[in-house]
Amino acid sequence: MILILLGPPGAGKGTQSQLISERLGLPQLSTGDMLRAAVKAGTPVGLKAKQIMEAGGLVSDEIVIGIIADRISEADCAKGFILDGFPRTLAQADALDELLKSKGRHLDVVVELKVDDTKLIERIECRARETLAAGGTVRADDNADALKTRLIAYYRETAPLIGYYYAHRLLKSVDGMKPIPEVSRQIGELLDQFQHA
Ligand code: ADP
Repeated sequence: MILILLGPPGAGKGTQSQLISERLGLPQLSTGDMLRAAVKAGTPVGLKAKQIMEAGGLVSDEIVIGIIADRISEADCAKGFILDGFPRTLAQADALDELLKSKGRHLDVVVELKVDDTKLIERIECRARETLAAGGTVRADDNADALKTRLIAYYRETAPLIGYYYAHRLLKSVDGMKPIPEVSRQIGELLDQFQHA
């Protein structure tokens, strides 16, 4: 099964993809995590992405499409995978479609995490406080300025994907404002129909 988790920053995509990954035994492909790892390792991609990410902007389509093309060709993706944070633009969605087509594969479902927009900033600020309290390091882009840029990028570039996948009859929505286990239960229910796909 190949699925996408779609939603604004702070919607819970990372948390839910990890839970689905454990439940279905499929790898979770988070472009955010992969890019953060590249920044940390100081690779050429990381060097290009660092400032853009810290400011909350979108890394170029060319870079992220390249990362995903390589990653989905790996052996552990043969059974399927969960995309978290990709695609984020219509160009990325088209590229994914082409990539899958060239491998004779297809997308099974796009899960939209619906959230109350006014709660997003609160959620991300709360995540930053909890991380600090636990002695962790807060993400460089979890600050007010970068967050505003991330939200603008989401509404300009990513939100149109909801209509795009709806038109392709791939979109399923769940209420992302519910507690984590409840959201996970709702996603589990709708994925049950695709288990054997
Ligand atoms: P969030 O969903 O909380 O904003 P992510 O971890 O998914 O966070 O992404 C962090 C940052 O990584 C983004 O703000 C962007 O700079 C970059 N990024 C991740 N995925 C993509 C993508 N598909 N296209 C462009 N940039 C991306």
